[in-house]
Amino acid sequence: MSTHHAVFPTQPDDAFIAAWRTHIEGTGYPELFANVSTSKPEQDEGIELLSEEIRVPVGLREGGSRVPCPFCSRHGPKFERGRMAYFPIEHVVRFIGRHCAIKHFGENYHDAEKRYRQQAACREYITFWKEMAARRDELEDFFAQIEPVAANLAFVRRQIDDQAPGFASFLYGELVQSNGDLVIVTHTGVKDRHGNAVDERKSIGRAVGRSLLAREFDPKKAIDKAKAAMHDLTVDLPGWSPDDHETTMAIVNRGWKAVKGLRALVDLRTELADAQRFLEPKNLRVIERWANDPSSPIVSLTLRRDGKQLLIRSGSYAGKHYSNAIVPETTFAALPPVSHPIVGSIPLK
Ligand SMILES: [Zn+2]
Repeated sequence: MSTHHAVFPTQPDDAFIAAWRTHIEGTGYPELFANVSTSKPEQDEGIELLSEEIRVPVGLREGGSRVPCPFCSRHGPKFERGRMAYFPIEHVVRFIGRHCAIKHFGENYHDAEKRYRQQAACREYITFWKEMAARRDELEDFFAQIEPVAANLAFVRRQIDDQAPGFASFLYGELVQSNGDLVIVTHTGVKDRHGNAVDERKSIGRAVGRSLLAREFDPKKAIDKAKAAMHDLTVDLPGWSPDDHETTMAIVNRGWKAVKGLRALVDLRTELADAQRFLEPKNLRVIERWANDPSSPIVSLTLRRDGKQLLIRSGSYAGKHYSNAIVPETTFAALPPVSHPIVGSIPLK
């Protein structure tokens, strides 16, 4: 006997879905949970998916048989992987095999899949909003540690660009080419058996911190994005139900922007930590030493920092450059550590 429980005028709530899921995992019988129908769907359109694909532990069923299919095999075993679904015209929920549902509903199934993903994203953003509200102090603290360093490094970079236009991109290009490995070549005077000079290549160190010189280095942009995201997170999301498509899309849109803004802040932390290292005297010294070696593509380079002064004097195929930039002390203030709770609580995208 198939069952038909027309008791859902709207989508079942999250508690029902969670309990159904637990029942499936514990028994292997998705079709025997309270108020789940096994009748054949009468409608051709209007299907809402309530779960991702679930692998039913059919080993728990009598004889390890597969799950019957409401579409084509109501009494015989048919599938192992299926989804919870809601049929809004009939007011019922069923557990359906993926392949049969696609066959039966076609385009409508694909639309339902799309809506399901949007609803799932919406749920995640609602949870994210709550989590960020609970972590407000940590977020403020994270931001407050990053902002002054961002402003100072942007200031340093701006002075270099104003006083020595083109220098940053020139040196960046050179350092990218060798991935920071500073290699000098010495002519040994020895020739191999073909009469070619034998050159000795020697790495004298590694240049770090080239983020500071990158074309896309723009801490202000990331700070502005993060600020906007942090502001939006203080504004509550509207009340939501899965069948309200317009609100779903509004939440997805705001959620996506907020995550993107905070992700920019987390990425900025990494970028700034790198950029700070460029200005370490030891790093500047090894770059200078490499640049002044006759085998480097640079004719001459003075690159040194004395406290708050960063001196650059360069002659190369890219032209002559001179800059004397101010580096505020707080440029080197400590950034929040990678272990800061905010770093791990922002989704990757
Ligand atoms: Zn079927």
